[in-house]
Order: sequence, then structure tokens, then C-alpha cells
Amino acid sequence: MSAKENNFIKGSYSKVLKTFFEPSGTKYLPDYSSAIKEYKSKSKLKSSTFFYDLVAGDKNLFWCEDKKKPLIGYFCNLVPEEIILAFNAIPIRLCSADTYCAKAGEEIVPGDICPIIKSVCGSLFSKKYDQLDLLVIPAACDSKIKLAEILSPFKEVYFLDIPRESSYLKNVEVWTQKYSQFYKFLKERFNSKITRKELLKACEITNKRTDIFRKIYSFRAKNPNIINSFDYFLMAYTSFFSDPAVWTEKAEKIYSEALEMESKSLSVFNGKRILLTGAPVIFPNFKILKILEELGCDLSADTLCSAYGKMYDPVEIDEETEIGIIRTLSLKYIAASICPCFLGIDKLIDLLIDTVRKYKLNGVIYHNLRLCHVFEIQTLIIRQILKKNKIPFLSLKTDLGKEDTGQVKTRIEAFLEMLR
Ligand code: SF4
Ligand code: SF4
Repeated sequence: MSAKENNFIKGSYSKVLKTFFEPSGTKYLPDYSSAIKEYKSKSKLKSSTFFYDLVAGDKNLFWCEDKKKPLIGYFCNLVPEEIILAFNAIPIRLCSADTYCAKAGEEIVPGDICPIIKSVCGSLFSKKYDQLDLLVIPAACDSKIKLAEILSPFKEVYFLDIPRESSYLKNVEVWTQKYSQFYKFLKERFNSKITRKELLKACEITNKRTDIFRKIYSFRAKNPNIINSFDYFLMAYTSFFSDPAVWTEKAEKIYSEALEMESKSLSVFNGKRILLTGAPVIFPNFKILKILEELGCDLSADTLCSAYGKMYDPVEIDEETEIGIIRTLSLKYIAASICPCFLGIDKLIDLLIDTVRKYKLNGVIYHNLRLCHVFEIQTLIIRQILKKNKIPFLSLKTDLGKEDTGQVKTRIEAFLEMLR
């Protein structure tokens, strides 16, 4: 797809939509300083300060000191960050879970649409998008596909049209072709002559991040509550918009400090240890974390696309040509994906069973967001198979707001009771 062909709504219609949707409300970003302060106060680690401060200072999203670098916003866990980094551009993941933005988003999309999409639309009111050079939107769920049209009057959009099936043998050539087209598009768009060397360098950077992320993931699963769930999910959220090299350096500090605490046996934990799966948990929507913490549980592991899915898989290059690297990226992002938008639920179920067994976890909580059908529709399949494997399972349907906190808490309490 060339830069010119990349239009979703013709100019005259875009103009109408732009006038109609021109954010008329307050140009705001909600103030979450007290929530950040509260979560920070629960952390046992001095080195976590960097991450909390980064979110507290996240007034305009971007870490970039060098204003000349292009800023490329993207959605989901299917857009290869490495290709963007190779162009010396900054990848910023825009998936959003903010209840205030979701309310504001109802000026753009109907109220009975998934809250993530509403929150993304409402983010337009914050004027964050003004700073971006380009948006990359993958064909994930139907709502994400429609985002390409909704957002195109405001920003240039690249639509990454990948098949919704994650079987490697059937699709690897199509994925490689789609990623190559994206690579070619960026070359034209930014008039760049980059080569495989820049791609390799970008892969090295994200692989270092994966390396420390994996250490932290497995540390948390074995050592409850030293790196608590607020630390972990906040760190994961900052990876949406922070320099991967800086993130890695700061995460290494967290890991060293946590190892030191472990060696001194400074933390004792007797609660239940839970695996969280399902819809992404993105700051500021930490409602489930808060409830679980209040009930004395440790969220020891996850499979969410906002944490585990974003950083766990490395780029394993065996052929250092441009096409070889691009093919490997498609394996990291698409073949390994457990996003419910793909056919391939076996991968998620295998992962849940293996993780519970490997780390001897007590049960699985499935985070369903209200009005997200792709997550909800697979609940029963997962429940039945986990039941057969004697793994306790709770499916929770919730929203981004706090209104149902009491109800969610009661359901988790009943689940924990069952685990005793
Ligand atoms: S679950 Fe899938 S569609 Fe939803 S945000 Fe994650 S990658 Fe995107
Ligand atoms: S997968 Fe579900 S939660 Fe994610 S954007 Fe699509 S409808 Fe919303």
C-alpha cells in the first residue's frame, strides 16, 4: 500500500466528520496523581519510583526528548515495534482504558461499544493525537477495524490487514508480506534508506527488554508480592510509551532490588496466588488489582496483551536478511499471539494450564470487559477445559468505572472461599 492509497474516508466526508467530531468538550487529561501516590505507597521497592514518576509525569504521553523524531501511534500487540524503532521513530501504544475518556468517547461512538474503543475515541479530546505523525491500526476485532475509519479524518492511518488465524504454516508468507508492505510504506513515507542493520539493532533493543521482563515474570510467579501487581502492571503500562532501552535499565534495577529482598527473606506471603487472563489491564483501570490486593491475593502471573503478551516473546532471528528479520517479527507478534480475535484458542488454554502447573498457582481469573464479545464468547470453552484439568476458574465481567466494585469484590470473595 503506498502512502497515497492509504485513505479510508474521502476528503469531503472526512471534512464533515471532522467538524462533527471536532472535540468540543474540555481539553483534559484526568488527574490521577492521588491514585499513583496510593499505588506507589504500596510498593516495597525503592527502584520502582522511576516508573511511578513516569506515569505521574505522563501529561502528554511521550518520552521523546528529541522532538524531531517521528511519533507513531499504534494499537494492539500485532504491530512490530522493531520496524518503527528501526526508522528512528518512536512507537507509542495507544490502547486506552480510562473511564473518563470512555465517557467522552460517547460523543464519537455509541455508548454500547466496548469501553476500550470509547476510551480511545475520548482520548482525541485530550489532544494527545495532535503530536502524532501516523497511526497504525491492525485488523484485530471489528471495532478496531472501524477505528481506522473513525480516526482517519484526524490523523493519517496505516491499516495493517492481517488474516485472523494464527496458524504458522498456513499464514507465515502472508504475515511476512503484510509486514514487508508496512516496512516499504515507512521507507517511502519517511524517505528513508534504512537497511537490515537498523532492523537488527532494534531487535537487540527489544530482546534486552524481553530478557529482563522474563526474569521479572518468573520471579513474581515464584516470590509472591515482592514486586507487587501495581509495580508490575504500572511497569508494563510505561512500556507503551517509554524508550525500551531506558525501560530495560530501570527494570534491571527493580529485579536486583527484588533479588536482594528475597535473599534476606524480607517478605512472607500466605495468600492465594492467581493467574489473570482475558482483556488487557491498562492504567488507570487497576480496579481488579486493587480488589485482589485488598483480599490478600497475589496476582502472580498473567497472559494479558498489555503485559505478558507485549514483552514476553523475543525476536529469534536465524536469517539476518531484511526479509528473514521481518519473517521472524511476524512469528513474535502474530504466531505467538493469544488475542481472542484470532482463531487459535488452544494456544491460550495450553498457556493457562502450563503456567498454573509450572508455578503451582491456585486459580485463574478471566477478565471480561463489558461489551467485548470476542473475549466473552470464548469463556465457556476455557471454563470447561480448565474444569476438566481441575483448575479453579472465575470469569468476571466488568467495566472501566468503579460502580461495580462491590459486586466484583463479592464474586472474588466467593471464589477465594472455594479455594480454601
Ligand atoms: S486483546 Fe487483542 S484486540 Fe484487544 S487490545 Fe489486545 S491485542 Fe488488541
Ligand atoms: S478485543 Fe474487545 S476489548 Fe479489545 S478493542 Fe476489541 S472489542 Fe474492545
